[in-house]
Amino acid sequence: MQLELINKKKFIYIYSILSIIIFIYNFIVNDYLTNNEFPGYITITFICIYLLNILFIKLKHLNNIYFFYSVKLLQLIIASLIIFGDLITTSYTALIMYILIVIEVISTVKVETKSLINKIYILLTIPLVITSIISCMEKRTFSPLFFTVQIIVVIIGIYIIYNSSTNALKNQIEVQKKLWLEVKNKNKDLLASKKQTQLVHNQLVKQKNELEEANETLNKVTAEMYIQNELLSYISSVLDIEELMELVTDSILGAIGVDTCSIVIYDTINNTYHYKVKSTYETDYLLPFIEAMKEGKLDEYFILGEPYIDNQVTKGKYKFTYERAVGSLVIIPIIKDNNTYGLLIAEHKSSNMISENSIRFFQNIASQINIAINNANLYRKMEEMANRDALTYVYNRNYLRKVFNDLAEKVQTNNKSLSLALFDIDKFKKVNDTYGHLFGDQVLKIISNISEKYVNLNDGILGRYGGEEFLIIFPDKTLDEAYQIMKEIHSCIKNTKIPYNDKLIDINVSIGLTSYPEICKSPADLVKRADKAMYVSKDTGRGRITIDNIDL
Ligand code: GH3
Ligand code: MG
Ligand code: MG
Repeated sequence: MQLELINKKKFIYIYSILSIIIFIYNFIVNDYLTNNEFPGYITITFICIYLLNILFIKLKHLNNIYFFYSVKLLQLIIASLIIFGDLITTSYTALIMYILIVIEVISTVKVETKSLINKIYILLTIPLVITSIISCMEKRTFSPLFFTVQIIVVIIGIYIIYNSSTNALKNQIEVQKKLWLEVKNKNKDLLASKKQTQLVHNQLVKQKNELEEANETLNKVTAEMYIQNELLSYISSVLDIEELMELVTDSILGAIGVDTCSIVIYDTINNTYHYKVKSTYETDYLLPFIEAMKEGKLDEYFILGEPYIDNQVTKGKYKFTYERAVGSLVIIPIIKDNNTYGLLIAEHKSSNMISENSIRFFQNIASQINIAINNANLYRKMEEMANRDALTYVYNRNYLRKVFNDLAEKVQTNNKSLSLALFDIDKFKKVNDTYGHLFGDQVLKIISNISEKYVNLNDGILGRYGGEEFLIIFPDKTLDEAYQIMKEIHSCIKNTKIPYNDKLIDINVSIGLTSYPEICKSPADLVKRADKAMYVSKDTGRGRITIDNIDL
């Protein structure tokens, strides 16, 4: 068992100093004053102890604990023998030496257990106790030295026990402190890792949200693309504007997630709005919007000419959202030749529901609506042209037949009148021959325009029936009502002077008029009988109206 000796050097100094002091003391007190005792062996003992301690330091392998204790025990025995020797003067010096050795052992050896402390204590005090008892027994008296020794022994004992117990307590406190520190550090580590975990968790949550957002955007874009494709495939085939608006509003409402979608088209010819408003809410909800639109409260957005978006719509902010719960809205103009003639409006009851990206989608839809409307208008024009006469632009014979057949069928069930007039330009061949075909064409146009003006005013239908023959259908007009109108037309034509170079040319027409059910028993007879009446006009001098009657 190896022993690490501490404070050893300190004791070498103490022993050196004490040896010198004792040597001087002995020399002065013992040699000169008493001069009858040999005082040198105490000094020699000190020197021996001193030398032995030096030896301990030099020879480290002698740090064996048993060897150390043996040497110290030997020193203690020698010291105790001197204490209880005959010389009183050396006794106290030896007692100091004894105490020094005890202090040296205690402060040099590090003791851990209580039992070891007790053993050391017994080892250190036994020589002194035994020699004191023997000495007392021999002298048969208890000297003050004996009591001094016993007190010292007890004091050292108390000190050692106290020291050992406080050491144990200190050790325990130290262990507790260490444990507490470890727990504290662990707690710190745990807190740090908790913080780290929280950070990672937050990042994961953020990433999850971003992914969800991206997914939502993707879904929205997919839905938008789907609608665009669907509309594109339909739009080319839809030629009816009402049907087109229905299709677009339905598609947007179903897939984009807005709750109201409207298309408003301004008809410049009739100075009115065509509109389609679709909503996921009750029809009543849209009534204020339709009213506002009719009152022109959307007009300012026609002037704007560019998309308008508002994601923070508050109650009553716009005239057209008044009385309705709207949180966000987008207004896209439908433009042709830099002119806004329509609006596509989408609304949502919550705010922040229209993203900037959606504008592109709505703009694409708006331009598709524009294309479709143009297609429909073109188709309507073509259809119209197919029904019109190329020169006079009044209806042609084909269209007249269709309309007449429809009216003839209806009139038989609704018991209403249907009158018919047929007129032919008098001596038109001569006009052509005299003034040329171009002038003849001009005459045809003028007569068409005059007739059309009166016909339109009276809800009639005018058409070119043949070369210079015209047919007028008067739905819901009695014979007399039709006659009054025809009289006006005839008089106007008759009084119109058509300039040719420096001349004014007079034109006249022969008219035949008939009516169902007053004259004709069947609507199918109307044309035939009108023709007959017209020929009566021709045969009876031209330039007049013949009203059909049963005698014709
Ligand atoms: P009537 O009083 O008996 O009707 O005599 P009319 O000369 O009018 O009768 P007719 O049937 O002999 O002549 C009709 C003329 O109308 C012949 C034709 O050249 C002319 N005509 C028919 N269509 C057109 C047209 O589109 N343009 C021109 N300039 N003339 C036309
Ligand atoms: Mg004629
Ligand atoms: Mg004719």
